[in-house]
Amino acid sequence: MSLITGLHHVTAITGDAQENIDFYTGVLGLRLVKKTVNFDYSDVYHFYFGDEFGTPGTIMTTFPYGKGLVNGRHGKGMLNTTAFSVSIDALDYWTNRLEQFNIAFKQPQQRFSGEVFIYLEDFDGLGLELVFNDKDSRKGYYNGFIPKDFAIKGIHHVEIWLDAYERTAALLTTQMDHKLIAESSDRMRLAVEDVPGKYVDLLCTPNALKGLAGRGTVHHVAFATPDAETQLEMVEKLNKFGLEHTEVKDRKYFTSVYFKEPGGVLFEIATSGPGFDVDEELASLGEHLNLPKQFEEKREHLVEVLPKINYPTEKFR
Ligand code: ZN
Repeated sequence: MSLITGLHHVTAITGDAQENIDFYTGVLGLRLVKKTVNFDYSDVYHFYFGDEFGTPGTIMTTFPYGKGLVNGRHGKGMLNTTAFSVSIDALDYWTNRLEQFNIAFKQPQQRFSGEVFIYLEDFDGLGLELVFNDKDSRKGYYNGFIPKDFAIKGIHHVEIWLDAYERTAALLTTQMDHKLIAESSDRMRLAVEDVPGKYVDLLCTPNALKGLAGRGTVHHVAFATPDAETQLEMVEKLNKFGLEHTEVKDRKYFTSVYFKEPGGVLFEIATSGPGFDVDEELASLGEHLNLPKQFEEKREHLVEVLPKINYPTEKFR
């Protein structure tokens, strides 16, 4: 049995909270499945966007620190692109939609044997892609205005830039259940299974500058493990492999262990459950500010300092 089942979520450092809501729920049509705070710095929101349930492998999360935050820089030792999966028939729909809302994007390109994608950035400059493919059986979230057939189905892959990819590839293949899926001159695609939502693309970019954390960059990527038991087995493997890691942290919707992979990117191992309906009904996920127990007594202060946001937003219908 695999201890790692695929991607869980990607977490980014962003600027304005409302712009995050507008972009991910409005432009992209994801569901806000949780509105909470950064458990390590509670004066900042933590938004989770995903499919209807916040299924692992569909989740993008953000820490919106405000517009004043200094911009980061894409580069080596960083996850620079998070790609979302959409139907192979959705290319015209999405290029029209992005044009309609003035979102800049690059013209369609291809990689490997005909994988069509477009590159775009969110309002903070975070690198994103839409990958048009017929390999994804996930349903995606129907938000009421993006036609069901064209909805984002979840994450397709993440793209990590590295000085050299041997050590990171060795970690993923020998300890984290990944195998080689595809390869081109400067790109290696690994996955636990050959389906969208599980791919990790390693790019060899020795000439790139080093990435700098800041607004518009990824903080970490989380891989899914079934439960607390498999998470501990994974921790054992990390110990044997000689990688330092944190203790198991309770993130309320899952538990997490963090470590730096050899190329410098922060990895997390997150349990698939208990999920986002532990503290609110499935029908109303994301509508209220949900806090973990330790911050409940600060609720009044937090409501005061966190920016007011408007959700759902009508602007991008
Ligand atoms: Zn995380």
